[in-house]
Amino acid sequence: RESGCKIQNWLHKDDVTVLTVATDENHGLERYLRSARVYDIDVEVLGKGKTWTGGNMNYAGGGQKINILKEKLGELMKTEDKDHIVLFTDGYDVMFLGNMADILAKFKAMPDTRVLFAAEPFCWPDAKLASMYPNTEVSNPFLNSGGFIGYLPEIYEILNAKEIKDKDDDQLYYTKIYLDKNMRETLKISLDHKSEIFQNLNGALSDVQLRANSTEEWPYIENVATKQRPLIVHGNGPSKLTLNYLGNYLAKSWSMNEGCTLCAEKRIKLKDDNLPTVMMAVFIEQATPFLEEFFQQLLDIDYPKNKIQLLVRNYVEYHEAEVDSFYQKHSKDYATAKRIKPSDFISEAEARNIAMERCVNSVCDYLFAIDSVARVEKQTLRYLLSSGYDVIAPLLVRPGQAWSNFWGAINSAGFYARSADYMDIVYNSIRGIWNVPFITNCYLMKIELFRTPAAKSVTYSKEEVDPDMAFCASLRDLGIMMHVSNERELGHLVNPETFDITRTHPDVYQVLDNKLEWEKRYLHVDYAVNFEEGREHLMPCPDVYWFPMMSMRFCNEWIAIMEAFGQWSDGSNNDKRLESGYEAVPTRDIHMSQVGLERQWLHILKEYVRPLQEMVFIGYYHNPPVSIMNFVVRYRPDEQPSLRPHHDSSTYTINLALNTPHVDYEGGGCHFLRYNCSVRNTKPGWLLMHPGRLTHYHEGLLVTNGTRYIMISFVDP
Ligand code: UDP
Repeated sequence: RESGCKIQNWLHKDDVTVLTVATDENHGLERYLRSARVYDIDVEVLGKGKTWTGGNMNYAGGGQKINILKEKLGELMKTEDKDHIVLFTDGYDVMFLGNMADILAKFKAMPDTRVLFAAEPFCWPDAKLASMYPNTEVSNPFLNSGGFIGYLPEIYEILNAKEIKDKDDDQLYYTKIYLDKNMRETLKISLDHKSEIFQNLNGALSDVQLRANSTEEWPYIENVATKQRPLIVHGNGPSKLTLNYLGNYLAKSWSMNEGCTLCAEKRIKLKDDNLPTVMMAVFIEQATPFLEEFFQQLLDIDYPKNKIQLLVRNYVEYHEAEVDSFYQKHSKDYATAKRIKPSDFISEAEARNIAMERCVNSVCDYLFAIDSVARVEKQTLRYLLSSGYDVIAPLLVRPGQAWSNFWGAINSAGFYARSADYMDIVYNSIRGIWNVPFITNCYLMKIELFRTPAAKSVTYSKEEVDPDMAFCASLRDLGIMMHVSNERELGHLVNPETFDITRTHPDVYQVLDNKLEWEKRYLHVDYAVNFEEGREHLMPCPDVYWFPMMSMRFCNEWIAIMEAFGQWSDGSNNDKRLESGYEAVPTRDIHMSQVGLERQWLHILKEYVRPLQEMVFIGYYHNPPVSIMNFVVRYRPDEQPSLRPHHDSSTYTINLALNTPHVDYEGGGCHFLRYNCSVRNTKPGWLLMHPGRLTHYHEGLLVTNGTRYIMISFVDP
């Protein structure tokens, strides 16, 4: 008896029996029991392992709970005295929000009450009974059977008042007893109209406010209509998803100060000598930018390949060659491997069902499903496995957008709805692992969950519903909880929306929509070095600056796009592409607008060229840069080998070399006449930048062999 608080708890444990019924162990029960532990409440779970004969709980039913409880109360009557208190709650959709001492204090303060039932705004399951209620001019006028507290003899009497069949409705049973004036008065039965103890969520969502942004106290709910802080919350009927949402915060699961305490509790340690077997099911359902990098990340995942069963499903003919080459090269490194090709004509839903079935029916501990749009850090799989959650997705967001791989809430039609915390999670303003109603694109699932008879209903196939929506709906129906983690950075989503596979090298077109991948693949490895402090920029001729800018791969693909298009101008002064129709110093070229790269190139000017310009031509700011003439020039001996001296109509000109002297061509370069200075040994991916219309009179030097390509813009004409 060290402290007063302990004594109080010790006392209540003898005086009170807390009971629930749960025939199966599920996530709802796990959450319930944890909340009890948090508040030091001992719960006895009745009915464990029994077959549920109480009907489908989306309809009337639940009489079995009464029958199970009746048996237990019979036992208690033999050992306990008349002052013994019984607290009963449902088990799958209930959480404790306070300790027993507080619950008892509130109960004992209720005037003239020996039994207190939870209350709700709906008269269910028989609305006709509403008129028989003694008082309906209160909030939550009607009885709810998901929670009650009272003295043992009275509750025993209620339970033994009549027979009830397992499949009959428990709420109707208790309601009829309450509506019997004689029983109500002799047994002193009251309803918790103000939610002093029991808060039912169905129909109460506008009354119940989550208070989670205090640094002083743990999150709690407040009933703003009755000014109460309920101690037990029940996600009755269709409000289960709301309880899932609130449950992310309540019962000391998360706080501003502590972060995700529940995450820490659940975390497990992976044993390297006994790692679980994971089926990695890869889905390529749509043409996807930067697929090469996707495959590389699969190879890079930090997990032994002999513990991974690989399944690669590709539905996109365009990608098949790349998929095939990956599969041929690497499938043998995995424990097992299977592929589904476009020519198999298997729908997405079927393919996903196949992956599940294969995992369920083999030596497989987890299914790790990953879509081609998902880009994850190599630690992701290990992280998810060690999270201890059964179904968990890493939070993946399209950079700079609110588009992610989870939904925070769901509307009544089963579609996306935004939860109050959706943006906070997406922007990492709060971090943790969140119980959510829908996940997609990348997730890990403990496969044991799907080896039960009930899990036969889990499926990706449902007419007119997206496979993932169908799947998540079937998990929700089973009470399997899904989670998304933003505890730490785990990756992002690529955006496939503008990916146009009719283009040559369509990835290079993706600078606006998939910046991260694009920069990694196409910017020069030393681009960032340009901005290092104290960097002395190369200046091969006066005021002609020289920067590493684009990768070799960029240059090659850029040339290939032009050559695939092939409609080089004829080098004459007449140029229909120009507004004036006349070009004084013509070249053989292709304009960016002709190959659909105008918008992308202007973006490159703004994002990658302008910052370089601002560093060297100090004091000149023009954002965004304007450029009407953006084109690739081709110099070769049999076509146009050089360009006569001229001024550019630009404030500054950029000249990006796309190929290599002495390898791809001989000769070439740029000569600045006023300075009698030439830049000959240009380097692919390196950008020359010089003033335009006045000082830098220049000419294109003769190419004597091969073909030279350069990309030119006259910036701010
Ligand atoms: N229950 C059970 N096994 C089942 C279904 C229900 O033990 O297969 C118990 C469990 O305590 C659950 C309660 O019955 O919380 C009521 O079911 P549910 O929560 O689905 O109903 P609701 O609160 O929505 O009426």
